Amino acid sequence: MNSRQSLLRQLPSVDSLLLTPSLQSAATEFGLDEVKQHVRQVLADLRNSLRNGDAGAEVELQKDNMPDLISQRVLQAVQLSAVPVLRPVINLTGTVLHTNLGRARLPEQACQALYSLAAQACNVEYDLETGKRGDRDKHVQQEMCRLTGAQAVTVVNNNAAAVLLVLNTLARDKEVLISRGELVEIGGSFRIPAVMEAAQACLHEVGTTNRTHLQDYREAVNAATGLVMKVHTSNYAVQGFTASVGEQELAALAAEHGLPFVSDLGSGTLVDLQRFGLPPEPTVRSVLEAGADIVTFSGDKLLGGVQAGIIAGRADLIERIKANPLKRALRVDKLTLAALLEVLKLYRDPQSLPEKLPFLRDISRSQQNIREQAEQLLPAFRKTLGPGLVIEVRETSSQIGSGALPLDLLPSAALVIKPEPGATGSDAKLTGLAAAFRKLSTPVIGRIHDGEFWLDLRCLDESEALLDLLPELLDQV
Ligand SMILES: *Cc1c(COP(=O)(O)O)cnc(C)c1O
Repeated sequence: MNSRQSLLRQLPSVDSLLLTPSLQSAATEFGLDEVKQHVRQVLADLRNSLRNGDAGAEVELQKDNMPDLISQRVLQAVQLSAVPVLRPVINLTGTVLHTNLGRARLPEQACQALYSLAAQACNVEYDLETGKRGDRDKHVQQEMCRLTGAQAVTVVNNNAAAVLLVLNTLARDKEVLISRGELVEIGGSFRIPAVMEAAQACLHEVGTTNRTHLQDYREAVNAATGLVMKVHTSNYAVQGFTASVGEQELAALAAEHGLPFVSDLGSGTLVDLQRFGLPPEPTVRSVLEAGADIVTFSGDKLLGGVQAGIIAGRADLIERIKANPLKRALRVDKLTLAALLEVLKLYRDPQSLPEKLPFLRDISRSQQNIREQAEQLLPAFRKTLGPGLVIEVRETSSQIGSGALPLDLLPSAALVIKPEPGATGSDAKLTGLAAAFRKLSTPVIGRIHDGEFWLDLRCLDESEALLDLLPELLDQV
């Protein structure tokens, strides 16, 4: 009999493995079924390796402590599968509102509210005064109306949902007048024409890509027109020979024909961001004051809050929007409302926003401040990543992201890592480096640019958070 067959025969049983002390305590911690499943998997893998003539597995199993060896493997597998798949990462990409990394980070006040409401019942749709069914939008309505001057608001899952719901309510089977220069795509799946179709509204394009005049809208109005729409071109800019029609003129034209004027603002700025060194952006208030009947915007772009789509404007239109059965499908839960409300409350004191709202804190950091942090981290990086890699502090530009203010880059500083000049396999080294940072216990996400690995420190609150992770890199790179 060859050794492989004898090894196969010697493999311990599932039950005997479950009796080993390490797996017993694992069963207490992770559950017996969970451990048993991994025992079965590890045994099946070993059987397969042996049958396929894997010499490594044979040598390993010939050592006399086979059961220990196997339970060790099981333990590793159990622990690995206990690591959450959704977890915090450190965003050093240089894009502050990174959609794939969850956009805005929430302020402490919002986190506290989430914590206290998550495990409790709460009056999300219950009126504590009358003891009857309440209105879930009421909780944020007062605060939002105060900040924007809107008569009423309703909150849905995100701004894409807000646009869909508004169009489906106010322009179903009707035409929506919109400039050709505003048929935007916001990240792959959100394209104005596609949303229009999903909302069962008919797109009626007016003007040209670069120039649209009031007369174009005027000539397009007909019996089938449902509303006039303007989309804020937040993620690109048309420059050169251009013309577009302002909110005020469009609002007047719409009113003349008894049509609602809807403005999809996208980013949703609540205060003038010029005071934080950013260029002018229309605020929700300014667009409503210019005459928009409905404004839609995101909760997690320039507002700096939680993922949500906010629909603000005329009370009678908001009433109709809330009565649409789609609202039930698109509404938000108590946690979103709680976080949004806490973020809105911070806006009561705009002066303190940059201290309290992580998004504004990030974008208002000076290049000098970020460079100092980079220089402070540099020696530890050089020490850990050692010879073979060149590490420097370099100036860079961060972006706001999420299609907000695309042209405006924030002066920043980065740690830049690259293989020594002339090193072989540089590309592989670089992708290996980026992967090693992603494998850290708190993954660090940077970006590869021009043969170098860049860590833009703008969104790094605490240098220690990064320093503490460095030792993990020692056996990785
Ligand atoms: C970002 C954006 C959207 C989509 O908002 P989400 O919150 O990402 O769903 C829609 N319209 C405009 C103009 C935007 O900028």
